[in-house]
Amino acid sequence: MQKSKHHLYIEVLAKRILPDDIEASAIQQEFHRLEAGFAGEMKLKQTLSDYYFKTDHHIFYNFECMNDNGFSHQMDAVLVTSYFIVIFEVKLLSGVLFYKPAQHEFYRIHNEKRENFRNPFDQVYRHQLFLEQCLRKWQITIPVYFAVVIANQQAILDESLEKFPIFHISGVPNFIENLYRNTAKFSANISMIVAKLNQLYQTLPPRRSISLDRLRKGVLCRQCNYKNVMDYHYGTFTCNVCRAKSRDVLFETLYHYRILIGEKISNRQFRDFFGMTNIRTCSNILSRLGFEKCGSKRGTYYIIPENILSWSKKKT
Ligand SMILES: [Zn+2]
Repeated sequence: MQKSKHHLYIEVLAKRILPDDIEASAIQQEFHRLEAGFAGEMKLKQTLSDYYFKTDHHIFYNFECMNDNGFSHQMDAVLVTSYFIVIFEVKLLSGVLFYKPAQHEFYRIHNEKRENFRNPFDQVYRHQLFLEQCLRKWQITIPVYFAVVIANQQAILDESLEKFPIFHISGVPNFIENLYRNTAKFSANISMIVAKLNQLYQTLPPRRSISLDRLRKGVLCRQCNYKNVMDYHYGTFTCNVCRAKSRDVLFETLYHYRILIGEKISNRQFRDFFGMTNIRTCSNILSRLGFEKCGSKRGTYYIIPENILSWSKKKT
């Protein structure tokens, strides 16, 4: 299961944002929300992996795409069987959840505080309408359902939610059983639907960007939770504070650069981001990495490969 590009972006940004930045704490909070959401999707995945499907099936997790109007769709999971399709929206909300259907108002009461949330039914209904329209265009007849799944066991669902497709994650097998029992047996061509959805699938870019001057520069020490800077000496980075040593942190820092700024890096950009001053040392590091090299002379830059993080496991 893959984290979205936005999630990866916020994950790195949370480590790199200057501590006194106006958005620093909002970014940390968003990161924790994204992590919690991802944990919820993992739980759904476990539950679905443990279920015995009665027909062939295919599941897309974190299905992302754009519609014809130029708006994006991000669906936590899409289950395709030969009888029906289900879109799952995973929520990790705590407290007591309530719904006022006529007003489309979704709220919770937690620690005696009332808080409104974006209505998950409207959110997933929008995905349903979109998928139905796609299927019509592809001339495929199959019903599309949706469910809002609560991944937090402590959450309490109020009676006002009773008539709506919202339940704890443990209710997923039962929900699918009922669909198998009550849906007309369409026997749609799964491989065709999966192929069409794969064509539609498109990873969405991060939903934000940031200017360089709001980022912490330098090679940051993982041991110190990215709070302290490491110095370079003969191929090894050493933390100024805890004295931890690392060679691999080079790849992690390049990964941070790639996620936050882009895949192209020049010697000058390398020096700036890594907080290193020696041009020669930096060109040695860059040329030893063996990245694809473009341009010439002062316009030379290198392409940081997408899998740069996994380079730490390689012998270099
Ligand atoms: Zn350290």
